[in-house]
Amino acid sequence: MPATPAWPPKSAPRLFVEQELSATAAVQVEGNQAHYLAKVMRVSLGDAVILCDDITGEWAAEVVEAGKRHVLLQPKQHLRPREPVPDFWLCPALLKKDRFDLVLEKATELGVARIAPVVTRRCVADKLNADRADTIVTEAAEQCARTALPEIAPVAKLDALLRDWPQERHLFFADEEGGEPAADAFCYAEGPAALLVGPEGGFDDAERTAIRAHPASVAISLGPRILRGETAAIAGTAIWMAEAGDWLDED
Ligand code: SAH
Repeated sequence: MPATPAWPPKSAPRLFVEQELSATAAVQVEGNQAHYLAKVMRVSLGDAVILCDDITGEWAAEVVEAGKRHVLLQPKQHLRPREPVPDFWLCPALLKKDRFDLVLEKATELGVARIAPVVTRRCVADKLNADRADTIVTEAAEQCARTALPEIAPVAKLDALLRDWPQERHLFFADEEGGEPAADAFCYAEGPAALLVGPEGGFDDAERTAIRAHPASVAISLGPRILRGETAAIAGTAIWMAEAGDWLDED
């Protein structure tokens, strides 16, 4: 007797939707999402689509209508609750657009809870296209099968970030002029954490002094070489996830 194929298939497309999901309400997707399902993934009646709402978690839904401009989906099975997200914030100084896009995408894949962009004196960019950032983060979360979206905070000036810093959160400061080895600093510090990374031109002396003077700050080193901001943000986040995040084998 051939085994019945698993439902939903692993190849089922994944989408984040605005609507809170339940088994009692159908979900209508339109616009780009409908185009993706209908034209790219060419779904048809009865096909499975995985839906997430960043609230209840992940559902397997069935295509009940497939039009040119809309697809109607009926959630059938609750697969996973919204994941527990490691309490880590990445605070990257704004970089040139394509490099910052990379930070948004990789931070999402790596599992951060929040991305808090910072403006510093040497930033080339001073604003962020919020809609574009949302799209990048959502698509990255769909690709890596996260059931929770990282929050994207409004862009903050460095002095405001330091002034309003929550005192219980470690503020690890990636300092190319030296600091504690990142892996040591991360694995011995319990509790909520954040990593602050500078722009292409680094922090200026006054900024560095202000950061180091902050009671929550700990300067950390990411090795002997000068990394690009995006490299430091991605590498630093990966080290934190491995040392203190959810990459550990929970016994
Ligand atoms: N001041 C550097 C440029 C900044 S690099 C220069 O002289 O060219 C961009 C940011 O990445 C820095 O502000 C710092 O936050 C981080 N960074 C780069 N290399 C690092 C290292 N080896 N250790 C810790 N942080 C580093």
